[in-house]
Amino acid sequence: MNQLQMVDLGNQYQKIKSEINQSIQQVLDTTSFINGEAVKRFEEELEAYLAVKYVIPCANGTDALQIALMALDLKPGDEVIVPAFTYVATAEVIALLGLVPVMIDVYDDDFNISVEEIKQAIGPKTKAIVPVHLFGQCAHLEAIMKIANEHGIAVIEDNAQAIGSDYYWSNGTKSKSGAIAHIGCTSFFPSKNLGCYGDGGAIFTNDDQLAQKITMIANHGQSKRYYHDVVGVNSRLDSIQAAVLSIKLKHLDEYASARVAAADYYDQAFNNINSIITPFRNKHSSHVFHQYTLRITDGRRDALKEYLDLKKIPCAIYYPVPLYEQKAFVAYRGQVTHLPITDQLCKEVISLPMHTELNPSLQNIIISEVLNFIN
Ligand SMILES: *Cc1c(COP(=O)(O)O)cnc(C)c1O
Repeated sequence: MNQLQMVDLGNQYQKIKSEINQSIQQVLDTTSFINGEAVKRFEEELEAYLAVKYVIPCANGTDALQIALMALDLKPGDEVIVPAFTYVATAEVIALLGLVPVMIDVYDDDFNISVEEIKQAIGPKTKAIVPVHLFGQCAHLEAIMKIANEHGIAVIEDNAQAIGSDYYWSNGTKSKSGAIAHIGCTSFFPSKNLGCYGDGGAIFTNDDQLAQKITMIANHGQSKRYYHDVVGVNSRLDSIQAAVLSIKLKHLDEYASARVAAADYYDQAFNNINSIITPFRNKHSSHVFHQYTLRITDGRRDALKEYLDLKKIPCAIYYPVPLYEQKAFVAYRGQVTHLPITDQLCKEVISLPMHTELNPSLQNIIISEVLNFIN
């Protein structure tokens, strides 16, 4: 296998193999595959890590967002504000529930949803905002929460890419991303910063009533067994995935440090190159580098991608098309024909390999090919 990969889960596993295998073996021995001890244990460990009152595990990150929205009791036609520069799941669940995704522009430095654009987009039908902590650093939550609270609007953090990052409040305190807004959502997809060995997700909240509702919705709307109070879904994290996640959670901070070290090393190589903008690190959060994303500003992004493909250097474009231009979402674009920053980012971004197993000698191969092309 090529030693260079976008994400190297194989070498990561080799280092924690005995811990992981033992943890999975325990589940196999108890045969408690659904809602077992392992799920409860992971739930409590993650609550402690995030300092959040409730963690409600579910089947994947997309379900987490859908269940969170279902818990808000919105009506068809209600509007939910999302960034236009994000993964499709964020907007998909909104449309699926008969709600209207209002797709707005982002900042050109940290690529996160613009607070000024949120203010412009809020109208009488706005019922929720879903900021996405894109590529590993937090959106401007303090300002967003202030606006939302003034208007009585719910905020759902899409924390699929930033679990483990710290949010720094202007008063000097800090909180874990995902544990700040009314509801937080994450994904445990294998390549995410906290990934399992299959599908998984979770919903976070500090609100007792929301927690009760979310728990019920994720479990067929049941208040007690065979009594269904609301129409729900079936969305569970299985015990084997929870067993993997308990081990990976112990390593999450050390994994984040490895990612930051790799990002620092890339930065050194690319910081002074004219047509490259290295990732901006905002002041109000720590960056856990789910992705290391460059901007290629001389119009040659696609040519660079072709060159790297040819040289067998893994790379990816997250994301090539603004949400409002996706076929599935044209019906929701309303008056939007142009979001200058989102449009520009879709043409300029390219993500390089980023994972916990990188080291300077691997990165040198990647860096030299990027520079070969650029210079
Ligand atoms: C991965 C991801 C999701 C969806 O998670 P799944 O577990 O794949 O359903 C949602 N939002 C963002 C921003 C993501 O990166």
